[in-house]
Amino acid sequence: MSWSFEWTVVAWTLFALAIVPLQLRVSAPYGRHARKGWGPTVDNRLGWLMMEIPALLLSSAIFFSSGPGNKAWTTWAMFLLYAGHYVHRSVVFPFFLRTDGKRMPWAIVASAIFFNVVNAGFIGWHLGYGPAYPADWAGDPRFVGGCLLFFLGMGINVHSDYTLIGLRKPGETGYKIPRGGFFRWMSCPNHAGEILEWAGFALLTWSLPGLSFAVWTAANLVPRALRHHDWYLDRFPDYPAERGALWPRLFRAS
Ligand code: NDP
Repeated sequence: MSWSFEWTVVAWTLFALAIVPLQLRVSAPYGRHARKGWGPTVDNRLGWLMMEIPALLLSSAIFFSSGPGNKAWTTWAMFLLYAGHYVHRSVVFPFFLRTDGKRMPWAIVASAIFFNVVNAGFIGWHLGYGPAYPADWAGDPRFVGGCLLFFLGMGINVHSDYTLIGLRKPGETGYKIPRGGFFRWMSCPNHAGEILEWAGFALLTWSLPGLSFAVWTAANLVPRALRHHDWYLDRFPDYPAERGALWPRLFRAS
């Protein structure tokens, strides 16, 4: 990895941290936080597809252009974990959404495409053209622990997303209090799971692009989960008091 590549990734990561105060003040205007004043809109499901598919296409294009035939299986495993997540997010998840008639601003789609292109570019480049991982990286505690964290996070994320989606009968678009599973302890286990998943990926790749993506994910999702939690408290007077936004109430600072 060249000096300039590393410093570009560091700058990109610092940008994620720099905009956290903005993300805390202004909730991203899609889903329950959708509101007027954000310009033209696009169908919600199509928006998800367009936002997420660039990550899959770009990371694959870079990885396969690097001649991956002679790479160790550990590198392939990393690529497949990343690409597998985006196969689900871009071409499976949007088609299960029960958001008929809902729209999201093009501004959200454009900013998410930018976010995904940069992160997928860094990760694809690292796996394709970065220093080679040996096959015995599979025995390293960082790889083993990272894989465990990745799959735990992914399991929590997917289970919780589909629990939320299943709250609506076909054709419904309103909101209900989610119950059971990880919702017993927190309002947004889907977001907590996604943060864990990418923290696991950072650990198993032990790389700057992996760390950068984990930081970006947390920078996006911690503010969103805090807004979701406040929204539930405002909207439902009987909302379970023991829940935190992303962690059990017991461990909440306030
Ligand atoms: P949300 O929890 O806001 O919504 C998920 C889906 O469930 C939406 O279709 C939503 O409908 C529906 N839903 C949520 N809560 C309820 C409820 N109480 N009652 C009925 N339906 C409900 O998730 P996001 O849209 O923020 O994110 C979707 C996925 O994308 C998550 O897995 C998240 O982790 C991931 N993501 C990752 C990011 C990253 O930086 N890596 C950034 C953003 C998202 P509606 O849309 O109508 O609200």
